[in-house]
Amino acid sequence: MTDPFLRAREAPEGPPRDYPPLPEALVVPVYDNHTHLDPSTGSGRVAGGGEPLDYREHLDRASSVGVKGVVQVGTDLATSRWSAEIAALEPRVLAAVALHPNDVPELLEKGLLDEHLAGIDELAARPRVRAIGETGLDFFRTDESGRDAQYRSFEAHIELAKQHDLALQIHDRDAHREVVETLDRVGAPERVVFHCFSGDADFAELVADRGWYLSFAGTVTFKNAPALREALEVIPRSRILIETDAPYLTPVPFRGRANAPYLIPHTLRAMAAHLGTDASMLAALITSNTEAVYGHWDDEPVDAPPGPFDPPGTFEARQ
Ligand SMILES: [Zn+2]
Repeated sequence: MTDPFLRAREAPEGPPRDYPPLPEALVVPVYDNHTHLDPSTGSGRVAGGGEPLDYREHLDRASSVGVKGVVQVGTDLATSRWSAEIAALEPRVLAAVALHPNDVPELLEKGLLDEHLAGIDELAARPRVRAIGETGLDFFRTDESGRDAQYRSFEAHIELAKQHDLALQIHDRDAHREVVETLDRVGAPERVVFHCFSGDADFAELVADRGWYLSFAGTVTFKNAPALREALEVIPRSRILIETDAPYLTPVPFRGRANAPYLIPHTLRAMAAHLGTDASMLAALITSNTEAVYGHWDDEPVDAPPGPFDPPGTFEARQ
């Protein structure tokens, strides 16, 4: 069965455009542990006036409302390389690298899967790359004929996470049972995150019992997603992470408009309200959970000269 709120993602209300206003800043900051700021995924193309929104503008807006860093996630070789390169330049960015499960059947068919996996392996060793993701299984958009390729790629990514001692960011769409079976069968890496968690309370408990993390996106604010809020309620708070998956899944009250890391406060406040807790307490907890999974954003300082757009001294100043 498809979770009803996810259908909205297949048939969005037109392409995301027009960014919502800045929310009130968080008192205690958090990280967005799953976002796509690379121009090719749309985040760079949907600014109000038609001007591309540079990733640095995204990060500046985020910093101004208490979202102090992001994990920038690649979905193919090109965006994974971009993610690693930006992370190396920018103290507010850590990178995740992987081939998206919906792309791998075609890669396999063209005989390119092994070569692209080798590229991900190379990127995984770069500084400030802290996760393999997003990888997993997607039985919604890929039919039966693509499943062998998805399993093969997922297992290879799990292996890379273990080899490089990186977190694993899971994309699980209509494949809850199969994702868990695969992790159990081949052995899960130490730190596993279900990105944009989409299961119910029972599945949430199963995931949390294994010590894995559940990352909640804007979907947790959607009216038609009560199961997600139940999931949030039943798990230990030590398993909770937060993300945007920008430019998709914009939280209420801006559903349908473009998403960006600076909109996390809406999701955080909705989660805190649902849990009957203080937003600052929840933020502090999520920040400590996020650092337990990915390490600290300043463990490996950026190691690059200022780029052509940065005034001299910018990088030194930020460290
Ligand atoms: Zn994503």
